[in-house]
Amino acid sequence: MRSVDAVVVGAGFAGLYMLHRLRQQGLSAQVFEKGTGVGGTWYWNRYPGARCDVESMEYSYQFDSDLQQEWNWTERYAAQPEILEYANHVADRFDLREQIQFNTAVNCAKFDEAQQRWLVTTDQGESLSAQYLVMATGCLSSSNLPQIPGQESFTGATYHTGQWPHEGVDFTGLEVAVIGTGSSAIQSIPVIAEEAEHLYVLQRTPNYSIPAHNGPLEPQVQQQIKDDYSGLRERGALSPFGIAFEWNIDSALVATDAERKAEYEKRWQMGGLGFLGAYGDLLFSGDANDTAAEFVRGKIRDIVDDPVVAEVLSPMQTFGCKRVCADTGYYATFNRDNVTLVDLQEQPIQGFLEQGIITHKQVIEVDVIVYATGFDAMTGAILKVDIVGRGGQSLRDKWAEGPKTFLGLGTSGFPNLFIITGPGSPSVLTNMLPSIEQNVEWISDCIDHMQQQGQVTIEATSAAEQAWVGEVNELADRTLFPTCNSWYLGANIPGKPRVFMPYIGFPAYVEKCAEVASEGYEGFALS
Ligand code: NAP
Repeated sequence: MRSVDAVVVGAGFAGLYMLHRLRQQGLSAQVFEKGTGVGGTWYWNRYPGARCDVESMEYSYQFDSDLQQEWNWTERYAAQPEILEYANHVADRFDLREQIQFNTAVNCAKFDEAQQRWLVTTDQGESLSAQYLVMATGCLSSSNLPQIPGQESFTGATYHTGQWPHEGVDFTGLEVAVIGTGSSAIQSIPVIAEEAEHLYVLQRTPNYSIPAHNGPLEPQVQQQIKDDYSGLRERGALSPFGIAFEWNIDSALVATDAERKAEYEKRWQMGGLGFLGAYGDLLFSGDANDTAAEFVRGKIRDIVDDPVVAEVLSPMQTFGCKRVCADTGYYATFNRDNVTLVDLQEQPIQGFLEQGIITHKQVIEVDVIVYATGFDAMTGAILKVDIVGRGGQSLRDKWAEGPKTFLGLGTSGFPNLFIITGPGSPSVLTNMLPSIEQNVEWISDCIDHMQQQGQVTIEATSAAEQAWVGEVNELADRTLFPTCNSWYLGANIPGKPRVFMPYIGFPAYVEKCAEVASEGYEGFALS
């Protein structure tokens, strides 16, 4: 059996950087990637309008100064093809492809206690032995295709936004239904509407969306940022979500109506997720939150011509407790003659026809159904692999009541298993790229430490893990995040335990990780 120091699962941004670091450390590594190319989320999510909701200059690696200086982004928010091109550039620039085996999914990983090594099996029938197993499987990579009774009767084409055909889809002349109104839907709906004969948007829960105000990134603006790239990175690292927004720590309730309106208007004109930084208590006080929610609802009423449609599009849940979207022309799309909003709260889906969807009120005849129904977030892709640790314990069983990790990086009973941006880390509440880099660097420093100390295994202690899970939940309970059915809580997947998964607060998390390492990996047992 082939033997390597580390097996890395996934060749997205996490897997690529992990491989680079391991190689720099002189370790042998094998990456397995299910797709035919690198890029992870940006390899799979090729739906029309797909782009990042974090600005390009920040949604990029910072570990290599030359890379950072030499790569040029063309737009404020990069579109999927450009981000995928960047991932490919990184793979080539650092000569990473040789250690990546594409078209290969890892099925199973078992910890062999006698050998103190992981035995990894792939869907290509291959087995490999490794000292370390690193899950770089991404937080939003296991698509959620809801099981809706009768859906198999539909004979037209169906697509999921997270598994979009590489050759693209031509909607010209077609009647199309999009199910879902999360970020993927909100980005794709305006683009599909321009092409389709008619578009039906099937909405179960309306979402808050702020205009992205995307546009070309002028070379001189880009150069100015590059001239002080470390300043931008530092501001990002110090902010709660790892993004260099302008964060106002004042309370929305102290400001006057006029001041609040001006602040929200300024943020609306700036565009994107920075709207959340308008006041320090938006995610802590229901009353403060209502002021932002009502401002956005007012904007929806201003933009959408038909007041009934505007009302149905207006979210009533806490602003920001589901991820806020960043759009290009989303609400205005509902002013088009060829777009119809279908309120699934009023008329739930009852069944399907060969050429349509039946709701409680009508038959909607369509040629194509686009499922923009999201992901089994944070744990889905990890648990797709049958991971078995000490004493034959399966990770699926261990996490049956919700994921349990220390720092999101390790889980007790599973020695030498590292997770990049795992549940219990800030991950999805941050700019993913710096979170990935911080996790990768922590893991590679940890491996380095083990090698220097002659340690063979490292494993989170159950006490540290228990305390950490408690802290993750306590932090969430201090906020308004648990007040709606978000995927942060696993609430979008029927039967998934309702547990808040990400750690809130990037700087505190980074500090805690550094402290653990400097205390000789306190909270982990080394042997
Ligand atoms: P999502 O936010 O989970 O949205 C899924 C949508 O599908 C929701 O509107 C949901 O309604 C609906 N849905 C699910 N099951 C349904 C069913 N059985 N019947 C009817 N409707 C159903 O998924 P997403 O839009 O793919 O986004 C997931 C995350 O990926 C985002 O929050 C973001 O973090 C990331 N993302 C980022 C970007 C970006 O960078 N711009 C773009 C896309 C995605 P309910 O709300 O009622 O459950």
